[in-house]
Amino acid sequence: MRGLVAIVTFVFLAVGSALAQDAPLILPEKLKQVAASVWIIPDESRPMVPNVGFVVGQTGILVIDTGMGDKNGAIVAAVARKLAPDLRIYLVTTHFHPEHDMGANGFPRGARMLDGSTLLRSTTQEQDIAEFGCGVCKAFSDRSPAAAELLKGATYRAADISFENDRTLDLGGVRAYIFAAGPNHTRGDTAVWVETEQVLFSGDIAMKPQPFLGSPYSSVGHWLSTLESLAQLRPRTIVPSHGPTGGPEVIAGYKAYFTEIMERTAALKKSGKTAEDAVTTVTGAMTDRYPDKNRLAGAIRSAYKEAP
Ligand SMILES: [Zn+2]
Repeated sequence: MRGLVAIVTFVFLAVGSALAQDAPLILPEKLKQVAASVWIIPDESRPMVPNVGFVVGQTGILVIDTGMGDKNGAIVAAVARKLAPDLRIYLVTTHFHPEHDMGANGFPRGARMLDGSTLLRSTTQEQDIAEFGCGVCKAFSDRSPAAAELLKGATYRAADISFENDRTLDLGGVRAYIFAAGPNHTRGDTAVWVETEQVLFSGDIAMKPQPFLGSPYSSVGHWLSTLESLAQLRPRTIVPSHGPTGGPEVIAGYKAYFTEIMERTAALKKSGKTAEDAVTTVTGAMTDRYPDKNRLAGAIRSAYKEAP
């Protein structure tokens, strides 16, 4: 009997800790500094978790991405408070997908300068929210009970400041240039450039994982031109919204991917092949290096439409 209790207890604990491990929670103990004014909590490539960024000045702190659900938002806000106990918190999200954005309601909402937070959104991000809402929330919730629990009741927070193209935030001794860069992964893709330290928060626009055209508005041609402008900033450090932090090679990798897709697809279109022919041929040529066939197919279909 005692043995049975021990086994049951063991199984219970094992399941419990597996659930806790699976929960897409931001882990504040992973906080690390990547430049004089810039800190991140790396996602360690866990699913449904973003890299979270903090840009700390003398008068304000900017947080980039929230994690999924109010609980994650509160965890991230507490880290911001610790990094900058007496400063105004500004918040920006790289795009409207839930793990980047749907923790914004977990941030403090006091009206006074120092006990609230200010959310900035590009108008394109607001359009994404208005048109699509959290269309992917069900798919996220279906992936694990812990994800479903985090998303239960989560809603989008309205912007305190919405901007058309870009907004420069003077945080005191450090400036953050926030700019709308879509339609790439989404129409509302937003990136942050910390010029003083040459750190770029690139969102899903440049990362190590295979690119994903996540919106009907996504465009391979536009994405290539965005990568060109990001490269011109000459970033020293690139913090993507998922996966490892890197340097200019992060941009170069995405550029090579889309250039190859565009060139192969345009040549096939010119020779009279259909879009589905192009999907088969180009996927066949690239899948050994880029294993996600759905992502390849999405990019090829878009490139076919865009090619002359
Ligand atoms: Zn996304």
